[in-house]
Amino acid sequence: MKLKIQNLSKTYPNGVQALKSVGLEISSGMFGLLGPNGAGKSTLMRTIATLQKADEGEIDLDGCDVLKEKDKVRQILGYLPQEFGVYPEVTAELMLNHIALLKGISDTKERKETVLYILQQTNLFDVRKRKLGGFSGGMKQRFGIAQALVGDPKLLIVDEPTAGLDPEERNRFHNILSEISENRIVILSTHIVDDIQVLCNHMAIIHDGRILLSGQPENAIKKLEGKIWKKIIDKKDIAEYDNKFNIIRSNLFGGNLQIHVWSEDRPDDSFVSEKPDLEDVYFSIIKNGETDEA
Ligand code: ADP
Repeated sequence: MKLKIQNLSKTYPNGVQALKSVGLEISSGMFGLLGPNGAGKSTLMRTIATLQKADEGEIDLDGCDVLKEKDKVRQILGYLPQEFGVYPEVTAELMLNHIALLKGISDTKERKETVLYILQQTNLFDVRKRKLGGFSGGMKQRFGIAQALVGDPKLLIVDEPTAGLDPEERNRFHNILSEISENRIVILSTHIVDDIQVLCNHMAIIHDGRILLSGQPENAIKKLEGKIWKKIIDKKDIAEYDNKFNIIRSNLFGGNLQIHVWSEDRPDDSFVSEKPDLEDVYFSIIKNGETDEA
């Protein structure tokens, strides 16, 4: 399967240009769309999910015109929106059964089997008789994936699914996503670098409506090798360092600040070379606004 997005632009009536000539090619497997809040991720996700119009551009899914042939796309689409509400008084099993009915699985036996299979896939089998209103945040998100999986969608879009989850739930959610990404396109939008690092072998970074990088995380990391320099400084000196060096990120470290500087050569003897990771890629791209193919 291949999803091709070309020249996609969107300006909201208030003048905000949320997408600026976005182009992407996405194949089967897990694709990560990484960007800060307000970057345009949800706008792009909603447009691919046929819920919103674009001003310009094309989206093609294996020969199907996504922006025009909405019904055709919806038959193979699963979508977990950023804001996902549930009916609090209904049990997980009943709700899924209802969604399966709505999605056209009319045979009772087949529907029951589908629902139980999905409950198992999303680790919700043991709580299937519980009301959704009593679900924790993590369980609700897993239910969100469960409802999106009804009908075995070939294109699955999940918008910021791990925001607000504790590390254990995030981990559980990662495992589920990784298992369901075989033989379909899963697009995961997130502002959490770790989500991408753990799950995705292809990614794009979006910022201010533009795609700044697309490709494989490990290639992007390789390109930064020898260019990231680390130093631990006193917090009060940050402004001075910021003036002198291209600081891409700073973290508190034992009460002091650890800074990562991007530079072709060692800035001075007090810096040590640091092995780059995906956070360095992300922050250097966001800060320096490079357009690149990884
Ligand atoms: P993200 O999902 O990356 O946080 P969004 O796609 O939600 O980004 O938003 C991109 C930009 O578009 C932001 O500046 C946001 O405020 C603006 N925006 C999003 N939805 C609307 C809307 N319905 N009307 C006006 N502006 C919007």
